[in-house]
Amino acid sequence: MDGFAYESGELRAGKLSIIDIANEIGTPFYIYSAQGISDNFLALKNAFGNRRHHIHYAIKANPNLALLALLNNLGAGFDVVSGGEMMRALKAGASAEKIVFSGVGKSEAEIDLALNEKISCINIESEAELERLQACAARMNMTADIAIRVNPDVDAGTHEYISTGLKENKFGVDSDTAIRLYRKSQSLKNVNPVGIAYHIGSQITTLAPYVDSIKKILALIDRLADLGIPIKHLDMGGGLGIRYKDETPPTFEAYVQSLVAIVDEKHGNLNLSIEPGRSIIGNAGLLITRVEYLKTNNDKHFAVVDAAMNDLIRPALYSAWMTISEVTKNRNIPAQDYDVVGPVCESADFLGKNRLLAIHQGDLLAVQSSGAYSMSMSSNYNSRLRPAEVLVDNERFYIIRERETYDDLFAREIIPEFD
Ligand SMILES: *Cc1c(COP(=O)(O)O)cnc(C)c1O
Repeated sequence: MDGFAYESGELRAGKLSIIDIANEIGTPFYIYSAQGISDNFLALKNAFGNRRHHIHYAIKANPNLALLALLNNLGAGFDVVSGGEMMRALKAGASAEKIVFSGVGKSEAEIDLALNEKISCINIESEAELERLQACAARMNMTADIAIRVNPDVDAGTHEYISTGLKENKFGVDSDTAIRLYRKSQSLKNVNPVGIAYHIGSQITTLAPYVDSIKKILALIDRLADLGIPIKHLDMGGGLGIRYKDETPPTFEAYVQSLVAIVDEKHGNLNLSIEPGRSIIGNAGLLITRVEYLKTNNDKHFAVVDAAMNDLIRPALYSAWMTISEVTKNRNIPAQDYDVVGPVCESADFLGKNRLLAIHQGDLLAVQSSGAYSMSMSSNYNSRLRPAEVLVDNERFYIIRERETYDDLFAREIIPEFD
């Protein structure tokens, strides 16, 4: 919990009382700590020491404009995977040369947008995409800097839905295809191959897959150099894991130092960049929800809360464990085993199962480590209003996204005038 802590049995955001915030703005809401986010970002930055590098925050982890502006002020660049994320980065004040565009299915409109805005690099994931980019750039009479995303075929040891670097995954191209595409792009007038990119997955908690893949990528860079194709930029992707329960991911220091050591052994001239999302923001956020009802079916106890799978889908989607704790501890009531469930009409609608909690109806619960892939994956399923988002900074809190209203819910819908 970066930026949050218990004090005399009550969970607080720095000096602020989460209970007071909940009483003021209602529940459920996400709450983020500016201190926690900047501490994480600066710790990662410091891990590089004097080594020249770029950190591109992966917007998909949490795209709120206020958080992007905060990271932009700290010097971050941005990794985007859609036109929408590109617009967010620009809206938050990022300069185009600090934006890189990843993703396996870029549309023509998105490529045009990237070219128009003159972002720094487009990461190409297939031959067809390379051809489309060439056509767009030629039409606009521009030259686009590109990297090719290579799939290093390593097992990141993470959940199958968030593993991206195995040859059966849809991401990137294998090394032989990469070589063919680099050669092809040399002959294309409007693309300029400057970099190589890879990203092997998310919530990776050991160094081995990173070490294996960077070695493979450096070997490929050498092969390309022999073919007269110099690579200037190496984009190492993101994916460093965080502690949700009892994981022990490498520290930023260990992660960065081990990779930099391997790179700088023979490739000290490479421009290095990384694209962290979860490790910057995951533990600097909480989802605060209120217990609506306690209920017992046969022997099973349920805490029905006012947040649900539409607000936070990680448990349902990835069987992810999120720690759930009482905002107020040390009650003189016995703890019981609860399934913490939401109001959505799906049995997959749970935030946690078999959790020992000492709670009454009306109490607040905090779902920890909810800064990343939480609000960003929320939906309106069951026509539920998406929660508010709050940022705590310097003993103040700011609403950085208002709770949705029923009007928001219908805003885009049209009833035709039926005959
Ligand atoms: C999702 C993603 C990231 C960030 O992953 P985290 O696990 O959040 O660090 C980085 N690069 C690319 C290309 C991605 O798709």
